[in-house]
Amino acid sequence: MQVANDTIALIGNTPLVRLKGPSAAAGCDIFGKCEFANPGASVKDRAALFIVEDAEERGLIEPGGTIVEGTAGNTGIGLALVANAKGYKTIIVMPETQSREKMDTLRALGAELVLVPAAPYSNPGHFVHTSRRIAEETPNAIWANQFDNIANRRAHIVGTAEEIWTQMEGRIDGFTCAAGTGGTIAGVGLGLKEKDEKVRIALSDPHGAALYNYYAHGELKAEGSSVAEGIGQGRITANLEGAPIDTQFRISDEEGMEWVRRLLAEEGLCLGLSSGINVAGAVRLGRELGPDARVATILCDTGFRYLSTLYNAEWLRLKGLAVPEWLDV
Ligand code: PMP
Repeated sequence: MQVANDTIALIGNTPLVRLKGPSAAAGCDIFGKCEFANPGASVKDRAALFIVEDAEERGLIEPGGTIVEGTAGNTGIGLALVANAKGYKTIIVMPETQSREKMDTLRALGAELVLVPAAPYSNPGHFVHTSRRIAEETPNAIWANQFDNIANRRAHIVGTAEEIWTQMEGRIDGFTCAAGTGGTIAGVGLGLKEKDEKVRIALSDPHGAALYNYYAHGELKAEGSSVAEGIGQGRITANLEGAPIDTQFRISDEEGMEWVRRLLAEEGLCLGLSSGINVAGAVRLGRELGPDARVATILCDTGFRYLSTLYNAEWLRLKGLAVPEWLDV
C-alpha cells in the first residue's frame, strides 16, 4: 500500500523487527511486533477499530453517537482517534494512577476524560463499572467493553496473528505477551495455533496479576505488585476464555525495566514497561525452546507516553527502580 485512504487504514500492518540484545541473551531469534507504529502509538488501536466497526455492523451506534470506555489509556486513545475519523464522540474513564501523558493525549484528541480513584474490580467505583454506568445514562451511546467484547481479540486473530505468520514466513516456534484484557494473547494465540498447533504460546504475567497462578495452578491468585500500565488481570475475561496458553512466566518490574533500558540504549527503541515485560518473557521462552527457535512478542506502546514516569529519574527513585546513568543528572 503506497497511499492510505484514511487514518483507519493506517491501523495494523505494523513492522516486525529482530531484537539483537534479546536474541543474543536467548541464544535464538527474538522478534518484536512494532505496535507503537499504529497511529495512536499502541496495540490498542486494533481493538478500538474492531469494536467500533462491530458496533456499526450490528447497528448499535448512530452517526454522531458517543463511545464510552473504561481504560488504562491506550484503548481510549485508539477509540478517540477512530471516533474522530468516523464522526463519533468519546467519553473515557481512566484510573487517576495512569501516566500524565495518556491523560494529556486523550484531552488533546477531544475525548471527555473522567478520572476515578484506582479501586478493586469488586468496587462499583472501578473504572470499568463507572464507564458502563455512564454509557447507560448517555443517549445514543455504546459501551466499548474491551474486556468482555470479543471483537477485541478478533482484531488479533485476523490482524496481528496473520501478520506475524506472514512476516515470519510461517517459521515461528513461540509467542508470548502479557495480558490486560487478554485480547492480544488470546487472539494471537488462537490465530497462530490455527496455522500451526505446535507454536508454543506463553503468558508473561507481571507481579500483582492473578493469571500466572491460574494457568500454573488453576487458582486466580495475585501476589506482589507492578507499576506497569495496561497489563495485570485478576479474572478470566471473555477475551481470555479458551486462550491456548501452553506455559507461563512471572516477570518482575526490575526484569522488564532492564529490557526497557537496554532496548533504548542499545537498539534505539523507546518503549513502555509492558513491552519490557514481554521481551523478558520472550527471552525466557527462547531459552526453553533452544538455539534454532524463532520467538515473537509485542512491543505494545511508545515510551514517549511515559516520559514523566519510566524515563524520569525522580519517579524511578520513588518507585525503588534503578535509574539509568544517562537519566541520573
Ligand atoms: N500494554 C499496554 C501498554 C496496554 O495499554 C495494553 C492494553 N490494556 C496491553 C499491553 C495489553 O493488551 P491486551 O488488552 O490486549 O491484553
